[in-house]
Amino acid sequence: MTGAITPGMVCAHHHLYSALARGMPAPPRTPQTFAEILELVWWRLDVALDLESIRWSAMLGALEALEAGTTCIIDHHESPNAIEGSLDVIAEACAEVGVRVDCAYGVTDRHGPEGAKAGLAENERFLRGGGRGRVGVHAAFTCTDETLEAVAGLGADIGCGVHIHVAEGVDDVAAGARLEGLATDDWLIVHAVHLDRDLPGTIAHNPRSNMNNGVGYARPFDRPNRVVLGTDGIGADMLDEFRVAYVRHREEDRTASPDTAWSWLSNSYELFPEALGDEVVWNYRSADPWHLAFTTNVHPDKITIDGDVVFDDGKPTRVDADEIRAKAVEQAARLHNKLET
Ligand SMILES: [Zn+2]
Repeated sequence: MTGAITPGMVCAHHHLYSALARGMPAPPRTPQTFAEILELVWWRLDVALDLESIRWSAMLGALEALEAGTTCIIDHHESPNAIEGSLDVIAEACAEVGVRVDCAYGVTDRHGPEGAKAGLAENERFLRGGGRGRVGVHAAFTCTDETLEAVAGLGADIGCGVHIHVAEGVDDVAAGARLEGLATDDWLIVHAVHLDRDLPGTIAHNPRSNMNNGVGYARPFDRPNRVVLGTDGIGADMLDEFRVAYVRHREEDRTASPDTAWSWLSNSYELFPEALGDEVVWNYRSADPWHLAFTTNVHPDKITIDGDVVFDDGKPTRVDADEIRAKAVEQAARLHNKLET
């Protein structure tokens, strides 16, 4: 029986740098709040990244995306001790595997004004040099007003918009007021769980990550914005994220249909229209949301991106999956060792 054929899937918010986080040493104490999850897990990891670990993290993340039928990734990156050139490393790794990527460096004042300046410069260098992406910011609560204005200004000047976490946790409730005069329709607003007003832009909903961080339900259907789906770094399997989005919606409203969560997946084509030209042949006969919401283990048999077959017979055609996994294990060990010392 022939499998269903769809365009490529789009992950509208990813952190490729988190691919090597799995198995990292436990935090020194159990985080009690979302702010502590950031401090004790993610901000320990990002300072330990260097260009080599970023490269293999991106290679592994891109490979896993392809294995899930995802042909386009909108990535948000931070590596405070390896800022310059980091977006090129990610873009090159994705190109090698054959996956499309939209890059952003998450500017923040967590490492002082020099760190913020270096992050802004990396966005500008990459984007003005012809790289595909948006200007990244970590979040309003880790940035000064001056930094937020500079980021918004650069996004407007280049015409690419801004990719920012907004009110993910209660620590960032002031984001609405602080971003109100800055945000525009081309912004990618990530999470919006505790956003106290509507802002212009597209909202990236990340249901699994929000549940994992215990930040609450974003109720994306209550927003007037276009809504898209992201994984927030937990892989790039969009059918999986769609199923989680659907059941989380259903938990809130027993009359919810999988068509709503499916529309969030489809909305991503407005951000990444090239995905519509990509083709995924699945190992399951139907791409109907009512089928896919209840059918697990649906994987691609064949993927064509930009006219090239990049995945066939369960394997990538341009790279050696076993080799990428072996290198990623090596780099993860090096990274985890750095975290322990
Ligand atoms: Zn994120």
